[in-house]
Amino acid sequence: MRFRDIIGQEDVKRQLIQSAREGRVPHAQLFAGRLGVGKLQLAMAYAQYLNCQHPTAEDSCGECPTCLQFEKMQHPDLHFTFPIVKSDAGDTCNDFMDDFRKMALEKRYFSIDDWYETLEIENKQAVIYEKESGEIVRKLSLKAYGEGYKVMIIWQAEKMNITCANKLLKLLEEPPAKTLFFLVSEMPERLLPTILSRVQLIRVPPLLDEQITQALIERGTDEQNAADIAHIAQGSYLRALQMADEKEDNQVFMEDFVSLMRWAWMVGHKKDYESLLKLRQWSLKMADAKMGREKQKAFLQFVQRQIRENYIYNYQLPQVNYQMREEKTFSSKFAVFIHSGNVEKIMNELDKAERQITQNGNAKIIFFDLCLQMIVLIKK
Ligand SMILES: [Zn+2]
Repeated sequence: MRFRDIIGQEDVKRQLIQSAREGRVPHAQLFAGRLGVGKLQLAMAYAQYLNCQHPTAEDSCGECPTCLQFEKMQHPDLHFTFPIVKSDAGDTCNDFMDDFRKMALEKRYFSIDDWYETLEIENKQAVIYEKESGEIVRKLSLKAYGEGYKVMIIWQAEKMNITCANKLLKLLEEPPAKTLFFLVSEMPERLLPTILSRVQLIRVPPLLDEQITQALIERGTDEQNAADIAHIAQGSYLRALQMADEKEDNQVFMEDFVSLMRWAWMVGHKKDYESLLKLRQWSLKMADAKMGREKQKAFLQFVQRQIRENYIYNYQLPQVNYQMREEKTFSSKFAVFIHSGNVEKIMNELDKAERQITQNGNAKIIFFDLCLQMIVLIKK
C-alpha cells in the first residue's frame, strides 16, 4: 500500500516520511486512533516506503520489485500478527494469513467484525495467543530477505494475551538488528504500561468530514448522502462505509416495498389485473439468485419494520416513530391501510416468508405467495 492510497492523514504521512528520510526510525511504534481512520494502512504504507528501492519525497515508487511484493502483502520481510480463534483450521497466524491477506487486499479498510465475518466465527473473542510470541521470535530471527528492514505489524495489539505481551516486551527491550515493530491499536490504554513506555506513539486522528465525503463520492455515493453520512461518521471512514451501504440498500428496499403495496392494492381494490402481472415480475425479481438469501431476509425485515412504523404512524406519536423523510412521505398516504384489523396477519405472513427463506425454501413461490396474501390483506 502506498501513502496515496490512504484517505487524508497528511500530517501523519509527512511525519513518517520525514523520519524515514532523516534515518531516525524508532524500532517500535504504536499507531493509535479510533476505528476506521487508517492506522493499519499507514503502518503498511510506511513499511513499504522504508523498504522501497526508489522512494520519492512523497511516496514509495510502487514499481520496484519490493513495492510489488509489499502491495500484495507477500514480501518475506513483512510479517503480520493479528488475533485469531484457535480451531481445526489452525492455532497461529500462519494458518490464517491467506484469509487475512485476501480480506485486507479486497477491503483495504476493515474492522475486527469484518475479520470475524471472514473467519465465519460468531460470539467468540479472537486473541493473540501465547504461541504467537514464539512465532514472532522465530520470524524475526530469520535472515532478512532484502537489504531493508524486517517489519512486524501487530494489528489489534491490545488483544495480545499477557504471556505473549511479556515475551514481546523482551524483544522490544533488545530488538534484533534492522527490525521494526508497528503496533496498531484502537484501545492503546489496554496495552501493558511497560510496552507503552517502549513504543513511539503515532496518533492517528479522526478524518475530516470533507475527506470522508470525497471518499464516499468516489465510491459512488451521491453528494448529498455522502455529506450527511460523513457528518455522523465522526471521522471514521469505516463507520461511514457501513452507513452508506445500509442507506443504499434501504433506498432500494423502500422502492420494492412501495411497489409491492401499491400493486397489491391495485389488484385487491381496483380489480386491476395488469398489476397482478407486475406482482409476478416483482416476485421473480426478489427471488433472483443475484439477490441472495441474506438480502432477501434483510428485505423482509425491512418490510416488517415499515408495517410496524405505518401502524404506529396512525397514532401520531412522533416519539415512537422512527422513519426517514421519504418513508414518512409514503406513510402519510399509506398508513390508513395498516390497522388493528390486519397488522398482525401481515406481520405473520412476513415472518413466515422470512422463516421459509432461512430454511432454503423456493424463493419464487415464497415471494409470490406473499404478494397474494398482501392482495387480500391490504385494505382500509
Ligand atoms: Zn518501490
